[in-house]
Amino acid sequence: MAGTRVGNRIIGADAPVTVGWENIPKVEGGPAKLAFFTYFQPVMLFALVAFWYYAPNSIATATTAIIIALSFRFFLICLEMVMPRHKSWQLTWKELCTDLFYVSLGYTILRIVDVYIGSEAIIEFIQSSYDWDNLSWFTGMPLLLQALLISLIFDFGQYWMHRGMHNWYPLWLTHAPHHYITQLNINKGAVGNPIELFLIGLGIGGFFDFLPRAALLAASIGLAIGTYQHINVRFNTPMWWRFLFNTTEHHSVHHSQDFQASRSNYGATWIIFDRMFGTCVDGEAEKLGMEGGRRMQIKEAMYFPFSDGWRATRDWFRSKTGRQTGVPAE
Ligand SMILES: [Zn+2]
Ligand SMILES: [Zn+2]
Repeated sequence: MAGTRVGNRIIGADAPVTVGWENIPKVEGGPAKLAFFTYFQPVMLFALVAFWYYAPNSIATATTAIIIALSFRFFLICLEMVMPRHKSWQLTWKELCTDLFYVSLGYTILRIVDVYIGSEAIIEFIQSSYDWDNLSWFTGMPLLLQALLISLIFDFGQYWMHRGMHNWYPLWLTHAPHHYITQLNINKGAVGNPIELFLIGLGIGGFFDFLPRAALLAASIGLAIGTYQHINVRFNTPMWWRFLFNTTEHHSVHHSQDFQASRSNYGATWIIFDRMFGTCVDGEAEKLGMEGGRRMQIKEAMYFPFSDGWRATRDWFRSKTGRQTGVPAE
């Protein structure tokens, strides 16, 4: 396969990747359908931001946030069933059962983290051990600006954490199982080894109940954009959105079977850090996964960091000591 040059890399030499927005299919149909698939994402984003901006304190609670997140997810699952982006990504019973296992595992871990970190004693300890007045320069800024900054700072960290996972073997061990998914759908964000989910969950699970309004706003920005990372629906996403934010298209390239393509689009909510640091590829891919699309079983995803870490350590040790075992090199 010839591939396409993006910057100084060749994308799509191992597996097909479509590069460039102009080469990506569009939603076709009547004016109502076109309007829906063009404006749905921005309207939901502005609606969610407006809600968290204006809602009175009695409504703006963690419980409301969870109800909104779950109903949003449910609506998008229905949309995937009616309007799948790729037939090859459509849910089978096997995929659905696997996804539900990971989603419930994710929620269980978040709950455990919440019980320990979110407990009254620890919240009180954190609130009393730090002089929160030191942050008054920040909390004095307009609410939306605070939310935007929180979202950008958080995503900047996510960008480097994710890029690190693809470049540093010990971190890759926790992230690799997520890259064995062979299709995208709304629940696929939860698929992976729990150690990775734990690392991510740690940031969002705890402290939920005393989160200031700005953080709730930032989280809802993340929800209204990041949810589309793994979705099997095609949108005619506006160009300004594609320039600023991570999209299904970007993330499908990241999950591509093509090695170089998978080393791009590391952002979670924003894509601007990828643009800044030269890892952005605007395009899409349908053939996803690792090892030619081998499906990783749940059991293997659970022990992979340990088994593969052990294998690599053993091989490294053998190469250093020159010990012969009679086992041919892998
Ligand atoms: Zn990745
Ligand atoms: Zn992913």
